[in-house]
Amino acid sequence: MGDPHPFRAAWKDFLGNAAIHARSATLFARLITNGVDHGVHCFYVPVRDADGELLPGVSSEDDGEKGGLNGIDNGRLAFDHVRIPRTNLLNRYGDVAPDGTYTSPIESPGRRFFTMLGTLVQGRVSLDGSAIRASQLALHIAITYATQRRQFSAADPTQETVLMDYQAHLHRLLPKLAATYAGAFAHEQLLQAFDDVFSGRADDPESREDLETLAATLKPTSTRLALDTLQECREACGGAGFMAENQLVGLHQDLDVYATFEGDNTVLLQLVAKRLLSDYTSELSSVDRAGIGRFIAQRAEVLAKRHTPGHASARASLTAATPDAPSTPCARRSSRRRCSPTVPGSRSRRSPSPCVGRRR
Ligand SMILES: Cc1cc2nc3c(=O)[nH]c(=O)nc-3n(C[C@H](O)[C@H](O)[C@H](O)COP(=O)(O)OP(=O)(O)OC[C@H]3O[C@@H](n4cnc5c(N)ncnc54)[C@H](O)[C@@H]3O)c2cc1C
Repeated sequence: MGDPHPFRAAWKDFLGNAAIHARSATLFARLITNGVDHGVHCFYVPVRDADGELLPGVSSEDDGEKGGLNGIDNGRLAFDHVRIPRTNLLNRYGDVAPDGTYTSPIESPGRRFFTMLGTLVQGRVSLDGSAIRASQLALHIAITYATQRRQFSAADPTQETVLMDYQAHLHRLLPKLAATYAGAFAHEQLLQAFDDVFSGRADDPESREDLETLAATLKPTSTRLALDTLQECREACGGAGFMAENQLVGLHQDLDVYATFEGDNTVLLQLVAKRLLSDYTSELSSVDRAGIGRFIAQRAEVLAKRHTPGHASARASLTAATPDAPSTPCARRSSRRRCSPTVPGSRSRRSPSPCVGRRR
């Protein structure tokens, strides 16, 4: 490429279709008009002409062979003094008049920024669905194998035992099956929340933030589940699981990057944690000391239940110490809105996890 211009760190890497096929890109960049920086906006930018030749000012490189998903030509792009018409601004959340005057239906620049980024939630919703499908497929393959493959005579000297009748095999596959069912139900809720927002039925900041938090929760958990399930199923099918024709190895390779793209899993979970903490902070700020005491006691009770084998006695003693423990901030709020049981089709479905919070 000769001297990198723009400088190397200004290249955007790993873009799907960028190496060969892409004719255009949606590009997030700062919008500056009349000397004022209005922050990141999204632009439609042609990158190649009809013959596939790069347009002036656009550079592209191929990322080369990857660990999976090699049907897609990922590459990197750079832009050097590329000009696009004003009308190529995707202007739902901000527009520029011919004289350069900027307008936006969202007054707060911070909220505008998060609304722009919120449009990326679609990718996370898709990955959650694909990851669940991959887990289902892997389990279908492994359970089919386990109900047909016979190994060793255990109880019956005349017939070998099917793998699925071995307790060890059940312990490997059934927890993954249960988690996959749970993930599939959770994905239905995510799709419902997504449809509510993007159909316009419930397109308000609160619902958008709930949707983003739910997607940021489920995408990391389902993709991790899929990778673990694929590996377990691969091993549960023995040598046959390692044969490419049985799909498990290839699926694992293709799914591997699901933990990284559309938001790295670790970073997404930090986002969820941040929102939960902001929510707790906000709830606790309006509670007096006695309320905070009750709140801490309730949290201790939950932890005791979760981690103490004989948790009934721990719960009894904590409840005795805090007879009115239920009136904690979280409990009060849950009865008000988000931790309430799901009612199919109702707007109070919100998040399946308790007290998934929103930024304030
Ligand atoms: C095959 C593939 C296809 C892609 N397709 C596209 C595409 O079409 N369009 C597009 O825009 N992008 C695409 N990407 C880019 C993808 O979104 C990024 O790779 C991803 O967001 C991670 O960024 P990074 O590679 O810079 O990793 P880094 O940011 O370098 O992260 C490396 C590690 O550091 C950790 N880390 C980073 N920041 C923090 C932090 N603040 N706190 C704690 N840990 C942290 C991460 O968890 C990760 O484990 C694609 C990537 C790949 C591999």
